[in-house]
This record gives sequence, structure tokens and C-alpha cells, in this order.
Amino acid sequence: NLSEKLDKAFHVLKGHGKITEVNVADTLKEVRRALLDADVNFKTAKDFTTKVKEKAIGQDVLTTLQPGQLLVKIVKDELTELMGGDVSGVNLSGNPTVILMSGLQGSGKTTFSGKLANFLKTKKNKNPLLVACDVYRPAAINQLHIVGDQIGVEVYSELANNNPVEISVNAIKYAKEKGYNVVIVDTAGRLAVDEEMMTEIANVHKAIQPLETLFVVDAMTGQDAVNTAKAFNERLNFDGVILTKLDGDTRGGAAISIKSVVNKPIKFVGTGEKMDAIDVFYPSRMAERILGMGDVVSLVERAQEQFNEEEARKIQKKIAKNEFGFDDFLSQIQQVKKMGNMKDLVGMIPGASKAMKDVEIEDDAFKHIEAIIHSMTPTERSKPSIIDVKRKTRIAKGAGRKIEEVNQLMKQFDQMSKMMKMMQGPGGKNMMKMMSG
Ligand code: GDP
Ligand code: MG
Repeated sequence: NLSEKLDKAFHVLKGHGKITEVNVADTLKEVRRALLDADVNFKTAKDFTTKVKEKAIGQDVLTTLQPGQLLVKIVKDELTELMGGDVSGVNLSGNPTVILMSGLQGSGKTTFSGKLANFLKTKKNKNPLLVACDVYRPAAINQLHIVGDQIGVEVYSELANNNPVEISVNAIKYAKEKGYNVVIVDTAGRLAVDEEMMTEIANVHKAIQPLETLFVVDAMTGQDAVNTAKAFNERLNFDGVILTKLDGDTRGGAAISIKSVVNKPIKFVGTGEKMDAIDVFYPSRMAERILGMGDVVSLVERAQEQFNEEEARKIQKKIAKNEFGFDDFLSQIQQVKKMGNMKDLVGMIPGASKAMKDVEIEDDAFKHIEAIIHSMTPTERSKPSIIDVKRKTRIAKGAGRKIEEVNQLMKQFDQMSKMMKMMQGPGGKNMMKMMSG
């Protein structure tokens, strides 16, 4: 990953004590490449590295800090700054607080409306009402009702009315009557920016005067995301950005580009299709993710929420004693399944995402994994190192799977053990401590 590269690039400079033009050039080239890889637009990446260079050159290197480490820190701080510096939440001071969703069709507005309602209800003790203003597709209204049912939040809709302005105004009246303190208005989008959509949302915006207008954008659309953000911002002057589909391999460079083009904070990110796949946007963590340092902090928080404490303590002991085996692996899989997408989680661990890339893990694969583990003997499960080719053949036969699958599982197991070790190593100690209370 990038921080390792930076360290290496500066290895030879130990003791030089100062960052100079010459020794910084190669490293900044790496930084720029990492940014471009993460889908940051070219100009932003170039401006960024120029700025870092200006800051870095001539800085005295503290004795405790290597030049490489100092540069990493400058890069990370600048990147954090570029993405908005501090965390910015949503303003909830209205009575009721009206929140308007905007964005293209398929960007994730309806899904995010549900996630936000659920987040405000469960984490902020709010009493939200969802409003269906996508009047063009009956299926869209239905979709919001399904979401509402899932999270136990009422959905206001008017099936016979196709005027979103009227619906949203009526909904706010309804919310006041019923004592809802947050009103989340989901709107229609189109496949591309067009005048009709813009006029409609601008009219709704004018009529309901939302306290928060949020622009929802699919992080996977890369450079297009920036242009769409610009178009919506010109019409709505929105208050914040929601970056969805930040799961899997998307590295989130769009976050940087959008921020630098429209200069509005990114407030939340969506990391999956489920209702709890929502995270507050932390610029510094995103900077780490883009730089390939891994979003360990997010990982810790998510793991913390759902990890069985006792299990964690048990596993911790086993790892320490090198006794982590397939039975533990099995129970880890169960934990991971509870936490959500395996790839999400792996992507957050420094160094693990590349290694895991060729090891595709799908929900369905768990069934086969379980079958394979079940056809191992207890000794094999607790001491995987004894599993040789002969044993593998027997295990494969017993599970009714191919030997390659057994090999793959062994590989996954290795990766997992390494990950667990890593979490216990420097920097990961806190995680295990936090997990076990
Ligand atoms: P809308 O047209 O803007 O209302 O978009 P939807 O909320 O209907 O979402 C479009 C598709 O994207 C649906 O299939 C969602 O399940 C999916 N989706 C939304 N948010 C996320 C996310 O954060 N991650 C992933 N992987 N899928 C998402
Ligand atoms: Mg929708």
C-alpha cells in the first residue's frame, strides 16, 4: 500500500533530517498515482501534490519522525482538509426538520432515505416520517413503503396525486399533526440531468424550504459524479452530499473531486443495500482509505457493535497461543455474516484487500466452506498445519467438493489468521481490547 511505498521511498534518507525537492519527487509521483487510481480527477490530483510539495519542502524533520512518516502525515492532513476537515452531521433543529433528497435515478435516494430514517430513529432518538414524492413510478412508492415496513417508520404517500409539491406540503402538515419531528422527502430522479427534473425538484425545494437538502450520488460513477453534483448544486445549492455504493473496491476518489468542485461537505456514505449500511463520513478516515492505509477505525466501530465479546476474548487467547483453528474460522464466518458484506470488511483492513482480491467470497460459498470444514477431523480443525495433500483429497471427497476448493479454503484460512494476527499487532491491540470490552 501507499504508506509502505512512502516509507520505502524514504528509507535511504534516514538521518538526512530534511525533506528536499529531490527526495520528495518520486514519492509525490506515487501519491498522485494513488489519487488517480482512486478516481480523483487529474487537476485536483495535480494541485494537491503541488500543495503537499510546498508544505513539505524544507520542513525540519523531528528527530522522532522519519521524513517518510512526516510526508505521509502531510499528505493525510492535506487530503483530510480537502475533503472537508471536520465531520459534519445533519442539522436536526427544525420543528419538524425537513430533509429533501435529490439526485439521479438509481443513485440510491430511496434506499438512503430509509437508512437515514433508521439511523435517526435508532441512534438519535428521532421520530421520522418518510414521504414518497416519486410520482412517476408506482413501483417507487411501493419501494419506499417496503423500506418503511422494514425499519418500522411510517411512509406518507398519495396514490391519486401526481403533484410532488402538493404531496410534500401535505406531508409536512401531516407530520406536524402527528408529532413527527423529522420529515424525509424522497423524490424522483432521472437517468441524466434534465430540465424537467431540475424544475420539479426546485419547485419542491421552494415550497417546503428544507433545513437540509441532500444530494445523493453513486460513488461508482467516478467523474460523472462530479458533473452531476455541479448541476444539482447550481439549482438547489444543497447542504451536503451522500456518497452511496462505497462498498467493495470503490476507493472513493469521487469524494475528493466533489468536495473540491462544489465545496459542500460529504455527510454520510452508503456501504451496502441493507438498512444499516450507513456511515457518518469522516474525512480523515476517508483520507486513510484513499491512501490505502485501511479504514481501521470504521472497522473497529462496526466490529464493536456486533461482535460477541466473549467470543472475541476466546479467539484472542487462541491467536496468542497460535491455536486458531477451523472451528474458530467457522464461528468467525458466522460473525462476519452478521456484520454484513465480507468484502466490505476486508477492504478496510490495511494490506488485506489486495491479498483477498483473488479469493472471491460469496454468501453462497459459505455453505461449501461449512461442508468442507465439517468433513475435517477434530484434530485437523484444531491443527490445520497437518492437512497435507492426502488429507485434502479425503476432505474434498467427504464434502463432495473439488480439491481446489479445499485449497482455496486453506488459503482463505491463512489470510484470516494473518488478519487476526494483524489486529493483535501494533495498532490493532486497541481493537481487540475494545472488542472484548
Ligand atoms: P433511487 O432511484 O435514487 O431511489 O435509488 P435506489 O434507492 O432505488 O437504489 C438503486 C439501487 O442501488 C438499488 O438496487 C439499491 O439497492 C442500490 N443501492 C443503494 N445504495 C446502495 C449502497 O450503498 N450500496 C450498494 N451496493 N447498493 C446500493
Ligand atoms: Mg427512488
